[in-house]
Amino acid sequence: MKIGTPKEVFEGEARVAMTPDSARQLQKLGHECLIESGAGMAAGFSDEAYEEAGVEVIKTAAQLYKSADIIAKVRPPSETEVKRLGPSKTLISFFYPGSNQELMELAAEKGATVIAMDMVPRISRAQKMDALSSMANIAGYRAVIEAGNNFGRFFTGQVTAAGKVPPAKVLVVGAGVAGLAAIGTSTSLGAITLAFDVRPEVAEQIESMGAEFVFLEFDEEQTDGATTGGYAAPSSPEFREAQLAKFRELAPDIDIVITTALIPNRPAPKLWTEDMVKMMKPGSVIVDLAAERGGNCDLTVPDEKIVTDNGVTIVGYTDFPSKMATQSSTLYATNVRHMMTDLTPEKDGVVNHNMEDDVIRGATITHEKEVTFPPPPPKVA
Ligand code: NAD
Repeated sequence: MKIGTPKEVFEGEARVAMTPDSARQLQKLGHECLIESGAGMAAGFSDEAYEEAGVEVIKTAAQLYKSADIIAKVRPPSETEVKRLGPSKTLISFFYPGSNQELMELAAEKGATVIAMDMVPRISRAQKMDALSSMANIAGYRAVIEAGNNFGRFFTGQVTAAGKVPPAKVLVVGAGVAGLAAIGTSTSLGAITLAFDVRPEVAEQIESMGAEFVFLEFDEEQTDGATTGGYAAPSSPEFREAQLAKFRELAPDIDIVITTALIPNRPAPKLWTEDMVKMMKPGSVIVDLAAERGGNCDLTVPDEKIVTDNGVTIVGYTDFPSKMATQSSTLYATNVRHMMTDLTPEKDGVVNHNMEDDVIRGATITHEKEVTFPPPPPKVA
């Protein structure tokens, strides 16, 4: 099959879904690779580097969509991109089918098969294709770097001839993939790092990374953020109040807050309130990784950096993976390549779209003119 990667059309998006290295691996599966000219430039991959890897460089997106059987891209497609698909085409990209119903129906109408990378089931076997985790890991790391860039002091404490410097105090709220990456980065830079999550099972992971788990004094155990399949569920009003009271106690002493708290299919919970921002010292920084879903902080403005009257910087950027486009393209392209490996069991360039396979079925949102989202619930053993 011919696998083609177009240039991303979303403004400012620097990632690319195929790298010269991933193309080499795709060719080992018996596929041919195509790339739109300039598609890798912003991520640091030139047309020449693709050509050296055996990739055919195609001048325009229109030609690429015409020639390729499988289109691999990063962002959900635009309407124009979906209209370029047809019955013999497969699209592999992030899609967020819950929020892009009309595009999904259009793709089904066109007869195209769509594999949504955000729908890959989060089971051990599928970890190599888990692009959400790859991107969350980068976002968590970059959030700390961004915080450091906006913070006027060191992370680590130092005793110098010019005086003693206290370490920065960092609080990470939410310890999923992004939160754990932020904790690891923050502790490795030498900051005193505290972390909170409604799922008590992450306490051990937090502590093993050298951070302190913030426990709540709550009547019941810290289990109110009852989990469903490893994800958080909304907290009770009492638990939420106890959590906010704890954060109010910490706010005057914390230099940097990184918030990553999310609950599947809901707006981000508001956890860092306006009064907490007011309690923080001037020069403190908040990086809100939940900005795209409304933000964990009351004052976050998505895609912007603001400074409050009391001198607190609040970063609401939503494109952290794109800001590290070389790294994120490398990981995303590897996730896509692993998906192609599962779709090409004989390594003979022939795709077997096996809807009996839980991972392929889970990620497929349109197939044979049908919308196949949501997938059936996982089989109970
Ligand atoms: P996420 O991005 O959905 O959410 C981030 C974190 O926010 C979660 O840890 C959640 O518990 C926390 N949170 C929600 N409400 C909160 C609140 N009020 N206060 C504080 N924290 C709050 O999370 P994620 O990174 O997608 O990970 C979620 C789960 O999925 C984890 O258990 C993770 O280990 C699991 N996971 C499994 C796999 C796999 O097996 N392949 C891959 C990735 C993630």
